[in-house]
Amino acid sequence: MGDPVNQAHFLFPAPAPVCYLEKNMTRRVTLIRGDGIGPEICDAVVDVLAASGFKIDWDEQLAGQGALQTVGSSLPDKTLRSIRKNRVALKGPCTTQVGKGFPSVNVRLRKQLKLYANVRPIESLGQLKSHYKDIDMVIIRENTESLYSGIEHEVAPGVVESIKVITRKASERIARYAFEYAKQNKRKKVTAIHKANIMKLSDGLFLDCARKISRRYPKIEFDDKLVDNACMQLVTRPQQFDILLLENLYGDIVSDLAAGLVGGLGVTPGSNIGQKEAVFEAVHGSAPDIAGQGVANPTAMILSSALMLDHMKQPRIAAQIRQAVQKALSNRRNWTPDLGGKGTTKRFTKAVIKEL
Ligand code: ATP
Repeated sequence: MGDPVNQAHFLFPAPAPVCYLEKNMTRRVTLIRGDGIGPEICDAVVDVLAASGFKIDWDEQLAGQGALQTVGSSLPDKTLRSIRKNRVALKGPCTTQVGKGFPSVNVRLRKQLKLYANVRPIESLGQLKSHYKDIDMVIIRENTESLYSGIEHEVAPGVVESIKVITRKASERIARYAFEYAKQNKRKKVTAIHKANIMKLSDGLFLDCARKISRRYPKIEFDDKLVDNACMQLVTRPQQFDILLLENLYGDIVSDLAAGLVGGLGVTPGSNIGQKEAVFEAVHGSAPDIAGQGVANPTAMILSSALMLDHMKQPRIAAQIRQAVQKALSNRRNWTPDLGGKGTTKRFTKAVIKEL
């Protein structure tokens, strides 16, 4: 294996710019396996990291629907305490019920720990069949407010309201994060995505903050697009995008769209960065439709662990893992069904480990 750090191809962004890890931090990491396919793909990551030679002392904790059933809380205090102590967590997806049930664990976790920046690199994987080539962009999504404020009420029978909260503080903070990220990762352009022509106050404020912060970074190009136009341009000419800066809901939707451009939800990793803690998780959800079948694609989760290693100042091991994933993907027999193959989670994981 050559020097993986110097291989230009398939390098997701280097360490997150806002990294608050101390030098002598232990390598104890909170592990939340989550629901649905979570346990299967987390097993894959644990095996891959063990094979990488990087020793992690996993502090396993519960969250999600399974946790609600076993310990009576979908986000136990003990889990939060563990993340606060370890500062780094790897998290499998947690099921969020549609239209009913307990509030989203993912959203609560991000709010409780103030994980304000959701960073999702979207990069073409040469090995996968895709209509799109040379995509290399990063979605930076504000993670704590907007329509995810959770403020909903019934005004009168048959009339409900959902409140979109946008604050100057959070908007400036995420804009600053995006520009700092661009600077540190040698990226050239930040595009703010919004609907300020309709939501003049809320999206207007978000855009205003992005513009204001952009003036402090004259070397980084800045533009903005309406979210509908941005979606159209993402499917017609995605290569024009570099960093996309979005508020919470648009970030969620555009992330799935962008994942579809490079091979789907099975291959897109992500991180949630706060001032003290960071939680790494795939873009996808718990995929209950395929849970327990052994066919979930662990790529997104393995690549999320590589982002975690970058964050823990272990870029060499992170790069080795990415390279091993690339090599495993180059053999179609390893592909899981979401990629059009007949492979299994275990087969793909074994292939990655073999390459390591
Ligand atoms: P959430 O709202 O929690 O993000 P979602 O409703 O977007 O979840 P997902 O759980 O992400 O839904 O699944 C969407 C589709 O993608 C499902 O058909 C699922 O099987 C598929 N999928 C998601 N992740 C994977 C994966 N790792 N491997 C294979 N298929 C996946």
